[in-house]
Amino acid sequence: MVTIPTLALNDGTDFPELGLGTYNLRGEDGVDAMVAAIENGYRLLDSAVNYENEAEVGDAVRRSGIRDQLIVTTKVPGRDHGFDETVRSARGSLERLGLERIDLYLIHWPNPRVDKYVDTYRAMVALRDEGLVGSVGVSNFTEKMLTRLIDETGVVPAVNQVELHPYFPQTALRAFHDAHGIRTESWSPLARRSELLTEQTVTDVAAAHGVTPTQAVLRWHTQLGSTPIPKSADPERQIENADVFGFTLSDAEIAALSGLERGRLWDGDPDTHEEM
Ligand code: NAP
Repeated sequence: MVTIPTLALNDGTDFPELGLGTYNLRGEDGVDAMVAAIENGYRLLDSAVNYENEAEVGDAVRRSGIRDQLIVTTKVPGRDHGFDETVRSARGSLERLGLERIDLYLIHWPNPRVDKYVDTYRAMVALRDEGLVGSVGVSNFTEKMLTRLIDETGVVPAVNQVELHPYFPQTALRAFHDAHGIRTESWSPLARRSELLTEQTVTDVAAAHGVTPTQAVLRWHTQLGSTPIPKSADPERQIENADVFGFTLSDAEIAALSGLERGRLWDGDPDTHEEM
């Protein structure tokens, strides 16, 4: 079992420096994979209404027997934006999860043309005040959207979960997060196992530390100050992915990995991409 360190979010919550992505973990195999991850030391699970696996996440949490130590994340889908819609959406998520609380609740995509993310966020803050939600945050928000949210509600999101990997290091957005006390979370932290893991720069950094390319990339995330949420269905790869806190990359190695920047994996630009 790996011990994953934690740090405090801006609301005081103890938050793991690495978590488990659960996209495509469904059915009994999905539950088994999540239970294995928890047994292997993972304490943060990332789900969403649109992953259609909240029931499986709830089952895994119950099977683990350590519900109180876990941070369960789910996300409001675009079709549920709006104050009342979000309250209903949260009730649906709680029912599917079979839990009494969503520990981290995020807006999945801002959908700026729909223009309801501020009301959505207000509902999430109300749910937090009622105790049905632990921490409130967002996903795929730009600096401009975060600024508007903070200006109009006075509540700084605890987390912004965004696409982040060496091909897309999000330098400016991370600086904004750091200046405002927002924790960055990296989605597709391994660039979805693309050719990233065979890049010469990645394999050289990994070899220098006697670790795997995956471990080198995940350590890059944590040293940048972001929480990666790699998805793996395989218990051995889950352990490999979590075991990244026993070595330290140099500034030059971090810069070399960031130097692989070339852009997003697909056209997931929050100003234009919408998900319902
Ligand atoms: P990812 O974590 O970058 O990559 C997952 C892929 O890498 C899977 O095919 C996995 O296969 C493989 N893999 C994992 N560990 C490995 C290892 N040690 N060696 C070799 N291959 C390995 O991609 P992702 O699933 O897109 O992103 C992670 C999570 O971010 C998602 O699951 C989801 O929770 C979240 N997400 C959020 C958003 C958003 O809009 N907020 C968007 C995308 C993703 P195996 O399972 O077979 O190991």
